[in-house]
Amino acid sequence: MLSEFDLIKKYFKRPRAGRAALGIGDDCALLAPSPGMQMAISSDMLVEGRHFFAGADPRMLGHKCLAVNLSDLAAMGARPVAFTLALALPAADRDWLEGFSSGLFALADAFDCELIGGDTTKGPLNICITIFGELAPGQALRRDAARAGDDLWISGSLGDARLALAGYWNEYALDAATLAQAAQRMHQPTPRVALGLALAPLAHAAIDISDGLVGDLGHILAASGVGATLDVDALPAGPVLARQPRELRRRFTAAGGDDYELCFTAPAAQREAVIAAALQAGTAVTRVGSIDAEPGLRLVDAQDQALDLNLAGFDHFTS
Ligand code: ADP
Ligand code: MG
Repeated sequence: MLSEFDLIKKYFKRPRAGRAALGIGDDCALLAPSPGMQMAISSDMLVEGRHFFAGADPRMLGHKCLAVNLSDLAAMGARPVAFTLALALPAADRDWLEGFSSGLFALADAFDCELIGGDTTKGPLNICITIFGELAPGQALRRDAARAGDDLWISGSLGDARLALAGYWNEYALDAATLAQAAQRMHQPTPRVALGLALAPLAHAAIDISDGLVGDLGHILAASGVGATLDVDALPAGPVLARQPRELRRRFTAAGGDDYELCFTAPAAQREAVIAAALQAGTAVTRVGSIDAEPGLRLVDAQDQALDLNLAGFDHFTS
């Protein structure tokens, strides 16, 4: 039987990467930002049955719980530094811990983000990460920074994770291979850290799309006191969703969920610079609308006609 301390030592304590002055093992970790930088801090909790299915693959879970936190740093334009991990586990299952920690550290190493502490307790499976990043003062991509006249942009592609959920729930029939391909986006989201860093000096507002674009963009509009016009047919559908009927494409790109792409605004004068930043970061970006002085979100189709997607009561992520 693994004790709590054996478990931490075996699965979570690793040779020091040296980002923190003191890592795992004492009452607190010690961490300072680089000289002249600000820290960006965020927590995200994943609860079994709410954010992932019971029995989910532990390696994918390890990836996803860190990916959603890295995505918050990306949406702020911050560089990852370190994270803590608070874990409630029903049992000290070696296979589960092996899979979980390897998925977690593969992503942590890819983004040079060091595990510096946490807490471990017995209980229903619950994973909470607090992540620490850094950025130059004044460069954070805040939700309240959108301005009328800004372009509205989306990174990567949307909707495949929501399509996979529709397949799992038998809301929509997908063959096994198609479902597996869509589910890849749900289980293994790619945090857009490099893009966030490249955008920080030139974009205005950003948010990561975890709850669906319409809802998440609504947070930017409310915080900034502006409105937007969104061309729903310009939204980039994920490769699997792109092969589905238009009605589904529209709904799942506009209000899917679990996408972890960035929705951001930038001055129209920075259009070329945004495209150059995206190239540098290796992430596609698509211009999908504009920010207006008039409050509210106006959905339009490719012909610029008002579109009523009747999204209310449809999307289960918002319930
Ligand atoms: P305390 O009794 O002060 O809460 P703990 O006994 O919970 O300390 O933890 C001992 C050390 O192990 C601390 O440095 C803590 O940050 C670290 N730790 C505990 N659980 C984890 C975990 N899941 N991942 C990483 N570090 C952990
Ligand atoms: Mg503790």
